[in-house]
This record gives sequence, structure tokens and C-alpha cells, in this order.
Amino acid sequence: MTDGSHYLAFETGGTKLVAAVAGPDLRILETVVLHREKSDRAERSFERVATAAEGLHRRYAANGAGFRAIGFGFGGVVRRSTNSPHLCLHEDGWEEIDVAGELNARFGLPAFVENDCKLAALAEAHCGAGAGASSVFYVTLGTGVGGGLVREGRIQTLGDFGEAEIGHVVVERGGPPCCCGGRGCVESVCSGPGLSRLAALLGERSPGLWRASKLFAPRPPDSKAILAAWRAGDPFGSLVVERSVDYLATALAAAVNLTVPEKVVIGGGLGTASARMIDLLRKRTAPLVAPYLRDDFEIVVSKLREQAVTQGAALMAARKIAARLQ
Ligand SMILES: [Zn+2]
Repeated sequence: MTDGSHYLAFETGGTKLVAAVAGPDLRILETVVLHREKSDRAERSFERVATAAEGLHRRYAANGAGFRAIGFGFGGVVRRSTNSPHLCLHEDGWEEIDVAGELNARFGLPAFVENDCKLAALAEAHCGAGAGASSVFYVTLGTGVGGGLVREGRIQTLGDFGEAEIGHVVVERGGPPCCCGGRGCVESVCSGPGLSRLAALLGERSPGLWRASKLFAPRPPDSKAILAAWRAGDPFGSLVVERSVDYLATALAAAVNLTVPEKVVIGGGLGTASARMIDLLRKRTAPLVAPYLRDDFEIVVSKLREQAVTQGAALMAARKIAARLQ
């Protein structure tokens, strides 16, 4: 059943579930996006996204397309040695699902599971904002914060549970609680929800600025409102965004020193929301990088955007099959 030329690609994340088809050139041909509810559990999400993929598979097969393999971009920690989800910080129950086995049973195709950010890094390095660079460090800023490292066109697999986990680098000792169980991680102050949490915290510390701000309300503002206030010159909005960018810059500069990427690609809903925020990130990161490395890397915005993970999933599936045939 692996003699076809098309691929199924999946993505699961904090807010969405995606099923897609990639053609013989590995480019994504069609995508179905489903929105998940916060209360959804993994079993329901998996069923919904697999059913969406069955619809795509049926239609393409009816038109003569054969399928070769499946790539699954999981929004959580993957255990590579078992090719399965290990832990999802945003949705319970994924560790109980044999994703690769279930997909294999449904579609009769080999399925490969990898962390979503590693796949986005692979795709950006291959045909996105990092194309042509020998090494790419990818960071997603969205519901969570994750990272991936690609060198010479390959995901750098440094551990069974992944690597390049910039989201859980501590940037504020004893800072806000993070969903990983730690405190003061990048994710706790730089993700969408983290920006909101940081606003609540800074509002308590600077009540005068907070009360004078258009963001002042009984409930902490969301990340969109915070970015809008910052763009409009609101002093409290600026305080929150600049502090958050400083936290990210601290961790990113360490990542650059440690992994010396040619390109740092920023993706995710929040990461691609504001070119001005990326400019600020460039300015705040550069002085923290070792002086002799400062001119050798560039921070750029994701080119593949919403398609980065599924594009990476198709690429990975094709490579795994090619490696098996060697
Ligand atoms: Zn954490």
C-alpha cells in the first residue's frame, strides 16, 4: 500500500486540528481545519481529525490518487522510540491513544509521529523562511511556545522526548506558573495566555499605569488587545509587550549562542501577528548574543504560517519511507 505518491498530513494544536493532503512534490494540496473546544479530550479530537482525513483520502483516491504514508504533527511531547504522543500540556488523554497504530489500521499506511514544532522547523528550512540556510532554529509563539532545530535539512534529534524546548527555559525565577509544572518559563510569559498573565502581574505591580490604561478591566486583557494597545502607544501595553519580548530575547540569545543557527524563524499565531514585535525582538536579542556571533544569524518571520506543521509532516513521512527503502 505504500506505492502511491500522495501523503496524509495531520496537525493537532491548542486551538485547532488539521488534516491535509500533499501531492507527489510534497506540497500541501488541500487542508481541512477544525477548531477544538478547550474542554475537548484527545479521544474526541483524534476521532474528528481522522474522520476529516478519511473524507480527503476517499475523495483523492476516487480521483485516482494513491497514498504512500502519513505524517502526524503532534502539539505536545512525542516519545520517538515508540513513535507515539507522550504528553500534551493543553489536552488530556493523548498518551492513551496509539496514534500511529490507529492511523495504520484506518488507512493501511505507515504513520510517523513527531512534535509539531520540529516539523514546522523542517518545513521552514526546506521551503519556507529558512530555505537555503544550513541551520534553522524555529520558535512558535501561540497557545504555547515551542522550538525545533534543523541542520543540513534534517531535524536534530537529540533526545527521545525532543530538544530545542525554548518554551520551558526559565527566564524569571519564581515567576508565573507554567503548564509544564515549572515557574517562570518562556511559555508562562510569552505565549498568548502568558502575555495575558504577565499583564495581570504587571498590573498589580504598577497599579497607576494599569488604571490609566485602556486595557484596564476586571479581567486580564487577551494578547490581541495587548498588542493593539502597544501599537496605539498605550504605556501599560508597552510595558507588557516590552517585558515579554525581553524575556523571549533572553532565551533566544542563549539558544543562538548554544546552537549557532543561521536563521531563527518565528511562527505561530502570536509570532506572526506583528512585524513590529519581531523588529523589537531583533533589537532586544542582538545585544545578548556573544559579540562574535551577532552578525551570523538573522531573525525572520515564518513564511509557511498556518501550513508549516502539515508541510513538515508530509516531508517527514516521505523521508521516513525513503529511509526504509534504502
Ligand atoms: Zn514550562
